[in-house]
Amino acid sequence: MQLSSGRKVIFSCALILILLFSTASVAAQTTESAGQTKKYVAFREDDVAPYAKFAQLEAVNQLTMDKNVPVTLGIIPHPWPSPSGNQLIEVNRTFLEYMRSLTSNPLFQFAQHGYTHLDLGPSPEGPSEFYGRPYAEQYQAIKQGRDDIIQAFGVTPTSFLPPFDKSDNNTLRACEALGFTEYSTGFPDFNQNGGHLDGMQLDTIGIELGNNSLQSLENATARWLNDPHSIDTFVVLYHPSDFSGPNGSVNPDEMKLLSDYIDYLQGTGRVQFTTLDHSSTTTGTGGAASSSAGGTPNGANSPSSAGFDSAVNDLGGTIAGLAALAVVGVVVLFSLAFILLVRFRKSKTRRL
Ligand SMILES: [Zn+2]
Repeated sequence: MQLSSGRKVIFSCALILILLFSTASVAAQTTESAGQTKKYVAFREDDVAPYAKFAQLEAVNQLTMDKNVPVTLGIIPHPWPSPSGNQLIEVNRTFLEYMRSLTSNPLFQFAQHGYTHLDLGPSPEGPSEFYGRPYAEQYQAIKQGRDDIIQAFGVTPTSFLPPFDKSDNNTLRACEALGFTEYSTGFPDFNQNGGHLDGMQLDTIGIELGNNSLQSLENATARWLNDPHSIDTFVVLYHPSDFSGPNGSVNPDEMKLLSDYIDYLQGTGRVQFTTLDHSSTTTGTGGAASSSAGGTPNGANSPSSAGFDSAVNDLGGTIAGLAALAVVGVVVLFSLAFILLVRFRKSKTRRL
């Protein structure tokens, strides 16, 4: 009995050390894979309006729904000079009812894409609805559009997408004053990639689907994924009209392009799909993404763990948790070793 006490101390210490290291190792792996999956693809569907090509609008939305991929809808509230009322309600009943049916589907975010989407700005640098116009005018137009969306769909848009990707500081000020929290435009609009604009989150457009082949979409996505300094969210822009075939039909090639591209993104195992406001985030079809053949060497497969929405805080939280765990472990280890040693010496003393 007394002879085994020394071994007991060594055995207990070894056991605790093993437990501590295995826990730390699991936590470290979780941290690593969580870091790798903090990349998001946001599909932005612009020019969703009462005049939108309805068959295309419905078909492309059905495709993303079938793949469990969220989409941000850029709604144009007032695309015609008349009627003067709420055109989202008054001019196309089919469109109105369809859009209302989407409000209960968490995969769709309702965003505001300007007010008229007409080239009204005195811009020498290309078309714009807002650029160069006085603040009060911009504020009034954006407010009216926002109110129309609220009235038609019962949803308050929090993301603003300036038409033609062209706006100015007054547009930003008006949007912020109206409570928008997220802004998405092209890089040249403010020469800025991600970050914040006037207190709003900026999501810069990454690529436009319609101008690209599957290969070029994949190449651009891989460059973004492999660049350690790239922004977290890759915004992919398309319009219902991109899916137009002859005689009002839906173009099967373009539908296949989007479908294949979503499959590619899911196959990387490194991205999650989200809306611009991050209200809805998924890994696409089939729940947890896996690193399939041809995937990345570091294929992460932890999307089933909780808390992805708090993307920014996750990693820091895990590291802090890991450090606390290590401290507690070391304290427990030393206390145990101390107690066992004291007992060991006591029993030795008694024996002697
Ligand atoms: Zn547009």
